[in-house]
Amino acid sequence: MTGNNNRGVLFKEHSDYQFIDAKVNSNTLVIGGGIAGIQASLEVANAGYQVYLVEKSGTIGGHMAMFDKTFPTLDCAACILTPKMVEVGQNPNIKLMTLSEVKEVRGAPGNFKVKIEMKTRRVDIATCIGCGICTEKCPARAPSEFDAGISQRKAIYIPFPQAVPNKYLVDKDSCTYFKTGKCRVCEKVCPAGSVKLDDKDSEIEIEVGNIIVATGFKPFDPARAEQFGYGRYKNVLAPLQFERLINASGPTAGQIKMQTQDKKGKWVYSTDGNEPESVAIIHCVGSRDHNYNKHCSRVCCMYSLKFAHLIKEKLPNAEVFEYYIDMRAFGKGYEEFYQRIKEEGVHIIRGRTAKVEEAGNRLKIRSEDILAGKLIEQNVDMVILSAGLEPRENAKNIAGMLDVSSDETGWLTEVNDKSAPFVSNRPGIYLAGTCQGPKDIPDSVAQASAAAAVVLQSIGSGKIKKYVADTTATSL
Ligand code: SF4
Ligand code: SF4
Repeated sequence: MTGNNNRGVLFKEHSDYQFIDAKVNSNTLVIGGGIAGIQASLEVANAGYQVYLVEKSGTIGGHMAMFDKTFPTLDCAACILTPKMVEVGQNPNIKLMTLSEVKEVRGAPGNFKVKIEMKTRRVDIATCIGCGICTEKCPARAPSEFDAGISQRKAIYIPFPQAVPNKYLVDKDSCTYFKTGKCRVCEKVCPAGSVKLDDKDSEIEIEVGNIIVATGFKPFDPARAEQFGYGRYKNVLAPLQFERLINASGPTAGQIKMQTQDKKGKWVYSTDGNEPESVAIIHCVGSRDHNYNKHCSRVCCMYSLKFAHLIKEKLPNAEVFEYYIDMRAFGKGYEEFYQRIKEEGVHIIRGRTAKVEEAGNRLKIRSEDILAGKLIEQNVDMVILSAGLEPRENAKNIAGMLDVSSDETGWLTEVNDKSAPFVSNRPGIYLAGTCQGPKDIPDSVAQASAAAAVVLQSIGSGKIKKYVADTTATSL
């Protein structure tokens, strides 16, 4: 039987879930160590239950660890995230497994058996004293993942200064020894005998009652939108690269600089570069575009406005141009932030950008201006492409392994987008953060806490909550 609420939504008068008796194992698996996985882990662990937090990379923190400020309040991202990361590292109820991946899930809700592959760090974190001599002497370099490729790191390294665990690791793919069979310098210079280049990966099996999936998103690669020149022209940046450029811990110590040539003639971002006099920020790159992704990535308008503000703050005389299709400032305080940016003198142009071209040492933006009803051109020194969010490459594999559903794009799907937006179709498995779809930090955190609440409910009651997929409720 259905009724009608005052928002014009048909709803079922009966409950949309039931409880199944199960001997619920009180251990919980959280997959993914970004802000959503961190939040979910802390919620469950702080209630007194064991959490296994499995993270693919060498540290927790995810994309948020790369951000400078958060919108709309301009809080320091690290000041919010780092204490939570430290808490995860120190919480006796959280077993943190970095460089690890879930390979198999068997069993039933309440009693899952999970196989986890643990890649070796090739550094014994129990004995490493963190002296850094290995990194200093290592001859091999690779683009820094943490700086989104705009700086280099060594093959033996700590991902970033606040990494948790704050321990070194060897990247096999960039290590000279693994490529040529010669080197092992790090092993020779390590005063603690902690480098273990011959260590092998291992596998363990754990038992858990519930699983929270927080595997996050992949940033759209702007090189796919060839018309914007990313990867071909200097000073065309992806958003995470700009986040690192304006961050005090980035390669220019937070100064906004254009690329310059180093002693070997290589183009790099460094404090020696010139400041741009004009910057263009192009919205919706890879989003709301049938060539790439139909969906709106929900965060790009706001982080673009944040970038405009930070440029004006650091370079008050710089001209900043925002090219947008629609301004989606939908969250709490977002519209007010948009109005504030307009008052700061940013040129806000409504229209789709067609192309970025080289124009001597500068970059030419070819765009439409819908409100003025004409095509326009603008030369600038730097371009930031506000690329959207996509499901991770292996999102479909994760869905298959967990036996949960995903949509045609690859986002994991909730059983009901209104009454159970954090619940997968498989009882005992819950969704948190951007693995389910694009969302900002507050929404990711809220969803993670909601998922943790249902997990705690099941541990406390010894029952698994089974949601009924709602086929009758219809948004009008
Ligand atoms: S063995 Fe690899 S990690 Fe160690 S110093 Fe040589 S290149 Fe660097
Ligand atoms: S040299 Fe050895 S003890 Fe020092 S940071 Fe490297 S692995 Fe750790």
